[in-house]
Amino acid sequence: MRKYFFIAIILLANYVSGLTQGSSQKPIVLRGTIILANKVTKHGYVAIVNGRIASVSEDLPNIPGAITVNTHGIILPGFVDVHNHVAWNVLPRWTPPHVYTYYTQWETDPEYLQKVKIPFVNLIGNINAPESHICDMITYGEMRALVGGTTSILATHPVPCMHGLVRNLDYNSGFYGTTELNLEHIINSTALPQASQPLARLQFVGLAQFAIANPFYEALFIHLSEGTDAAALEEFTFMQSHGLINPKGAVIHGIPLGPSQFHAMAAGGTSLVWSPLSNIILHGQTANLHAALDAGVEIALAPDWGITGSSNMLDELKVAALWNREQLGGRLTDRQLVDMVTSVPAHIAGVDDEVGAVSVGLRADILVINGDHNNPFRAVIDATAADVELVFIDGVPLYGDRIFMEGFWNRSELEEINLSGVTKTLATPAANFLVNDIESRLRPALEAEGTSLAPLTEPDDFDISMVGMRARMNIINRKIPTTTATNINGKVEKIKTGKLTVTALPNPSRKYFTVRIESSSAELLQVRVHDVLGRIVETRNGIVANTTFQFGSDLQPGIYVVEVLQGTKRQMLKLIRQ
Ligand SMILES: [Zn+2]
Repeated sequence: MRKYFFIAIILLANYVSGLTQGSSQKPIVLRGTIILANKVTKHGYVAIVNGRIASVSEDLPNIPGAITVNTHGIILPGFVDVHNHVAWNVLPRWTPPHVYTYYTQWETDPEYLQKVKIPFVNLIGNINAPESHICDMITYGEMRALVGGTTSILATHPVPCMHGLVRNLDYNSGFYGTTELNLEHIINSTALPQASQPLARLQFVGLAQFAIANPFYEALFIHLSEGTDAAALEEFTFMQSHGLINPKGAVIHGIPLGPSQFHAMAAGGTSLVWSPLSNIILHGQTANLHAALDAGVEIALAPDWGITGSSNMLDELKVAALWNREQLGGRLTDRQLVDMVTSVPAHIAGVDDEVGAVSVGLRADILVINGDHNNPFRAVIDATAADVELVFIDGVPLYGDRIFMEGFWNRSELEEINLSGVTKTLATPAANFLVNDIESRLRPALEAEGTSLAPLTEPDDFDISMVGMRARMNIINRKIPTTTATNINGKVEKIKTGKLTVTALPNPSRKYFTVRIESSSAELLQVRVHDVLGRIVETRNGIVANTTFQFGSDLQPGIYVVEVLQGTKRQMLKLIRQ
């Protein structure tokens, strides 16, 4: 998704991040199986002194006064998420009624406006007013990221009240001091202005060229080509024709790009940020990873946001692993997948001299996962938020299992965080807030908007995502093994005429129907639902062929006819609502 276009140049003072407390902490030594840049050290030791990684060794280092913790876990770099929209993650998952060929379509879908955009805008209100919820929204979004192992994230809203629970790479990241906040080296653009706005586009080119020419800036992230149609592809062509494919560049999305575009990116040193779940939920397709890998493009993985993407990086890692297995023939190794959420995004963002690896001298942004020592990369991929044992940022033990956290903090300093049956703890002195306070303010505010507060995570978040993803992938790519019609409860009714096919499952249905319309034409479809008297009870326009949508939950019991129109083609299907 994309929403805001801003440049992270903000002047602020008198703000102190909780992260800075790391320097005054006692040294820490962690024992566990360590994922290093080029190898794995089983049952090794990582020493943290003054917020940085002081040593990595097979034997216990001699560090006077150190707190030593045997984690029995897998020690790896905290995740670096370079594609998110932190404040939006207070909102629950939204399943679009159909897929879209260009992002402007879902951004203007009345259902999106009602369920997502308007509640979001109303919650923020006047961003500078004390009654705005923006600070709580950001903090809660950061908390959602943290429970999934993220230690750095992009992008946030630049407001001074932000706690900086995790590093915000575009605003007060903690890399450049805490009192001068205009020093971030990353520019994040959430949209290329539309082709219909040539002046805005020229201004954009000017800004981008300035950033590319100015050695101060290290990375230019651009939401680009989010869609599957000609307009989405034109965005890339525009960038290319204006010389904006360059080593600082990172394309977020890139859904319609093919081999020639990826070769151009590889030649120009531009990276790709891949967000498969959100792409598929919104657009029915994601970037052509085969072509990107063939061309040698550097690829990072990130969730976009929890609304149509994964709740956190661990979940998105599982989406990528599934895609790798089923769509890429397993060409990515487990190590490569883990690198795509750690060292690769750190490199793309230009912060690999600070974070993104368990390496001596780097800042101690560390994640500890409970899992199989003999297969550490697979253990990380398979892990859920329940398996997150500890998260350190700047060497501060910020979050994790109580049994470990009590080694660093007094019991009274730890706030219990409940993740649907699993209890974790957050170090209040480091966080400088209580999650409970934030939830108690956000919940009623969201309910007043007719929605609810998204959970920090859910045990079945990934499974829910997969249902939605497979419903769309099922149509798009026949190679995907899916539940076949005969395995689904209920009878399948299928009518086929020419190249337009309509299927509804189950039929009859007591709840709703899942309708699939297949066509060899890309022309948008109209669907009308008639009752037995021939009255139209529902009309849906702009439906993209070869997608799935649900309807009928609000229909009275009875017989209905679904009429599907595509150009001159017409198809009808009888449905029984019980
Ligand atoms: Zn986005």
